[in-house]
Amino acid sequence: LIQLYIPLNFLGVLYRELRQSLTDIERMFGLMHEHREVADAPDALTLPHGPATVRFERVSFSYDPKRAILHEVDFDIPAGRTLAVVGHSGSGKSTLARLLFRFYDVQGGAIRVNGHDLRAVTQASLRAVIAIVPQDTVLFNDTLFYNIQYGRPDASRAEVEAAAAAAQLTDFIKRLPDGYETRVGERGLKLSGGEKQRVAIARALLKNPAILIFDEATSALDSKTEKAIQAQIDLAAEGRTALVIAHRLSTVMNADEIIVLDQGRIVERGTHAELLARDGDYARMWALQQQEREEAAISG
Ligand code: ADP
Ligand code: MG
Repeated sequence: LIQLYIPLNFLGVLYRELRQSLTDIERMFGLMHEHREVADAPDALTLPHGPATVRFERVSFSYDPKRAILHEVDFDIPAGRTLAVVGHSGSGKSTLARLLFRFYDVQGGAIRVNGHDLRAVTQASLRAVIAIVPQDTVLFNDTLFYNIQYGRPDASRAEVEAAAAAAQLTDFIKRLPDGYETRVGERGLKLSGGEKQRVAIARALLKNPAILIFDEATSALDSKTEKAIQAQIDLAAEGRTALVIAHRLSTVMNADEIIVLDQGRIVERGTHAELLARDGDYARMWALQQQEREEAAISG
């Protein structure tokens, strides 16, 4: 019985690990219970590493033919620039990220990276140049080192440490008695929202991606954490092409362009200053968030 038990137990551990990795990817995209729908074209080309321009060309998309989600969404992100997307919950923001990662193909228009239609490049090479900092980072019940290295499992110790430094995790890790060997996750050290995000950024930076996507969590943060996260995003996005999906408008003030999405349509676009001057939806959202912030400051 013991002989049987050991391999079975081992398989159980393996299965759990596998399940957990799948869960991470699925949760990252809100794709629970969904299968992959795209395949490489027979003559698909390899997208090279290096600076990347992203273009959404009148992109239309629906998950279900009965309900259109995006309507002719059109924008450019020049290499090294940051485009921010804001809008109410359900307006289609995360869908843009899923399409750029090619979890689905568009039904109208095209998405291009450096001029190449995503349908003409291999998925592996596309996904090698893009990293995503998800809304809700899943930490494995393993060491901090493992949790960062997960971003690129063949990364060396020095590369993991460099990514941690770039995500400003070094001081935090130095203060832990077990350093990188500290166990985290549900059965280990619980990390704060800000610390988790840094781990997620370190994971992403380990890929040295030309394109970085941030999908910001909705959860309310105190203004100190909010400022820290905003600074983190600016730092990580430097020199990369970034798509920042934001709920807190303070996060996107510095973006090169901000688009406001409403029911899958771009209803406003411009810089923070231009959008405030326009006195439309963005300006209203901004005023509301400023008011909430003042009320929070008074009450607490
Ligand atoms: P946002 O990120 O702006 O909150 P999403 O892009 O996640 O919005 O979703 C846009 C719309 O698409 C929502 O109405 C959502 O319910 C719907 N949706 C999202 N994912 C799926 C899916 N896998 N299948 C069907 N509908 C979906
Ligand atoms: Mg979303």
